[in-house]
Amino acid sequence: MKKWLFSILNLAALAGLALAAPLPAMAAPAHQALPPVGQSADPGRAQAFIQLVNNWTAPDQPAENNQDLPQANPDLVIYLTFDDGPDPDWTPQILALLQKYHATAVFYEIGRNARTYPQISLQVAEAGQMIGLHGYNHIELTKLGYNDFYREVIDTRDAILDALSSRPDLEDHLTPCLRPPYGAVNDSVYNRAYDLNYAISMWHLDTRDWTGISGEEILATVERELEPYRVVLMHDGGEDRSETVRGLELVLHELTLRGYHFEPYCTATGQEYNH
Ligand SMILES: [Zn+2]
Repeated sequence: MKKWLFSILNLAALAGLALAAPLPAMAAPAHQALPPVGQSADPGRAQAFIQLVNNWTAPDQPAENNQDLPQANPDLVIYLTFDDGPDPDWTPQILALLQKYHATAVFYEIGRNARTYPQISLQVAEAGQMIGLHGYNHIELTKLGYNDFYREVIDTRDAILDALSSRPDLEDHLTPCLRPPYGAVNDSVYNRAYDLNYAISMWHLDTRDWTGISGEEILATVERELEPYRVVLMHDGGEDRSETVRGLELVLHELTLRGYHFEPYCTATGQEYNH
């Protein structure tokens, strides 16, 4: 009974803190300043999160009241990537989470899906996210002759460009980066991609979300292998991605508390190899 009462008091304190949190001029909207539903109700931790998100646009601002407050550290970068979309069910949910945490990522799209769901491709670019190529039919590029390889790349590029055609100003969200399906590469794939002015884009940290593990296990995998400047592999299409969505929210929340931020690995000018 005592514990129950304490929890209620904690929640009341948390609500008070949320209302009392000062909003700087460039503050994120108040609805972004609360920890995700189901997250820690520990007031200290929640308050740190609130301040971190509210101060996001001014990362140099010193912590005034709390020496232990996690700050956005320029060296604590993670590169999130999402393969196998666009998907009308899962991609919008992932876009919403990324926006909530001010995170930018790269979506490696399957050309066939971009043809089927051009509005979702457009939504990805409109949300400020970057797009790379993941082949048109999601087949192993190592098994293809040159003509089929060429079609896998160029047809995907064209499908995405068509999806973005109503917004030519967003064309630079399509990057010259190619992620081979199944990570299947050999010298020929590297050379052919290079000849078409594409860079092969692999990853360091496989969340293994494709194995059907839970969101909590996805977070545990990321925590176990976490290092700055890692490229993280997740999926926004192909099958039910509800656990990926759940895991992404946990990862964004936990890593943000640790001072990490999320940048695109591939940009209009190519890949960012910082380390
Ligand atoms: Zn894939």
